[in-house]
Amino acid sequence: MTPLPLLCLLLAVGMGCARAQPASTPQDDVAATLDSLHDRAKAAMRTAPATLKQLTDESLALLARHPDTEREAKVRVLRCGYFSENDREATRRELDRLNALLPPSSPSSLRAGMLACDGELHEGEGDNTRAMALYEQAVSVAEAAGDDRRLADVLYLRGYLRGVVGDFPAGLADLKRTLSLYERLQLAVEMRTTTSAVAGLYSRMGAVDEAQRYYDDVMRAMPSTVASRERLVAQHNLARNLERQGQWDSAARHFEQVLAQARELAFTRGQIYALRGLASVRNAKGDGTRALELVEEGQRLFGKMPDESLRAQLLVQRGIALRLLRRPAEGLPALREASELFHRSEASVDKGLALDEQARTLADMGDWRQAYELQARARQISQDLLRRQIDNRFATMKAQFDIEARDRENQLLHRENQANELALAGQRRAATLQIVTAVLASALAVALGVLAWRQRETGRHMRALAMTDELTGLPNRRQALYTLQSLVARGQSDGALLILDIDHFKRINDEHGHLVGDEVLRGVAAAWRLHAPPGVVLGRLGGEEFVAVLTRTSLVQALAVGEHLREAVAAVDLSQWLGERRVTVSVGVTLTQPGDNLGAVLGRADGALYRAKAGGRNRVESA
Ligand code: GH3
Ligand code: MG
Ligand code: MG
Repeated sequence: MTPLPLLCLLLAVGMGCARAQPASTPQDDVAATLDSLHDRAKAAMRTAPATLKQLTDESLALLARHPDTEREAKVRVLRCGYFSENDREATRRELDRLNALLPPSSPSSLRAGMLACDGELHEGEGDNTRAMALYEQAVSVAEAAGDDRRLADVLYLRGYLRGVVGDFPAGLADLKRTLSLYERLQLAVEMRTTTSAVAGLYSRMGAVDEAQRYYDDVMRAMPSTVASRERLVAQHNLARNLERQGQWDSAARHFEQVLAQARELAFTRGQIYALRGLASVRNAKGDGTRALELVEEGQRLFGKMPDESLRAQLLVQRGIALRLLRRPAEGLPALREASELFHRSEASVDKGLALDEQARTLADMGDWRQAYELQARARQISQDLLRRQIDNRFATMKAQFDIEARDRENQLLHRENQANELALAGQRRAATLQIVTAVLASALAVALGVLAWRQRETGRHMRALAMTDELTGLPNRRQALYTLQSLVARGQSDGALLILDIDHFKRINDEHGHLVGDEVLRGVAAAWRLHAPPGVVLGRLGGEEFVAVLTRTSLVQALAVGEHLREAVAAVDLSQWLGERRVTVSVGVTLTQPGDNLGAVLGRADGALYRAKAGGRNRVESA
């Protein structure tokens, strides 16, 4: 074990250490560091070019001490792409070094990257013929190397340039292939950039409405909160398309935003593109003074920027502004230079526009003959363009592309819908669960309620059973005595106790059987329940003895109740059990007295009953 990883283990520090495996050699460490630097630089390519430069500087410093051909080539391809945007000489230096590192015999993906960078350099210089040849080679090499990512990148470059030089069908075919490769590789950002390029191609050939639709899609897909180069380029192209439609105010709004964002990102090329756009809008509004200021600001920023096409476009705006300012002679050289540049680079659309402007300037200067000649050439170009637009091959391919794009969008929508439906189903499930839970909870509450009610009822029932005489359904002895006790406890003289005893009941039992005796007891109780006046509490003391308890009564009233109950028994029809035999009762009545007790009251009533029995039965006596 080397001391370094041990130290790292002890200190548990940073990325470099974390990478160092116990068995690693210094060479492995260098390789790992270089790979990490490369990945970070590549990631910074779109978002932070300055970081890319810094990280690859570090890599090259490390490579100087630890040579590694493959890794150096990787680093230089990245740097080449970076410099191709802002420094021609530096780009060339990277290319020279790459040529030494990657001989033509090696059909590697890196060589395709190098060829592409070389192409970009030439495209920037306005040599589109050479650029196209290099892109062609890059595509072949990437195809041979079997690197889909690289192939997509170089097809993009070739497709874009084919659109610039007016070869719309071939350009669209390349961009279509690019898009499907990026789609397969699941590179969403690159897919948007490619869609944006297709829109650019549409816009250039005059299909501005369709271009607008694609730009709108692209812009929607990019959050406006973050200023990014990618968004900036897309927004610029959208503004350019609005400019082509003559929607000057919206175009200006977008160009202003592009300018602000480019400044924020220190993206000089983006700033110049925006300035050109704003100058074009000012010219369209007849404000040559402001347009010229904007153009000159752009020209000042230009520096070493290797973008001849942009330079020529600035020159066109300069020429227009000077014509508006009635200085056509000063503007003419700018327009001539632009036309020549577009001619060399075979940028036919732009060339047509430049020639048209040149013709106007010449007309202003009174050179009608040349003006006419140039206008005829411009018309020729625009007719050629129209011819290409209605070219069958292109129309077919374009329709196909649009259908595919719509399919892609539909798929996206479909996926979104599915996700939404899933979420909805989840919500529904949750809602159902909630309902089920609520129902179960309610059911449980009801069940518990019922249970509680039943328990209470059962309790009540048990209590009632405990207090009720089973045979007759009247309050039993305990209840009857309890009621009586309550009455006695009041200590008033307005309570009455009646003891009612069936006469010669033993005989009934003896002669008709015990069961009939029970029926007689039941029949008598039923008659009393039916006929007892309100306020009279009945009870069975036991055997064939019953009680009636009255409150707030007098002796007369109590005797009357006794009489009434006695008569009620006489009226009960028990013939089905007893035949001719009549049932009678004797009744003993007593009133409660202050200072009474249960025994005394019962004793007095019993005494009265005895007298009723002794007096011949079937009568009421009071104590
Ligand atoms: P008296 O007119 O003097 O009251 O005569 P009695 O026969 O009614 O009185 P006694 O006390 O001599 O007899 C009561 C009988 O009641 C005795 C007992 O067998 C009977 N008896 C007590 N409880 C029940 C019962 O629940 N069912 C039936 N069938 N008979 C009962
Ligand atoms: Mg008795
Ligand atoms: Mg009796």
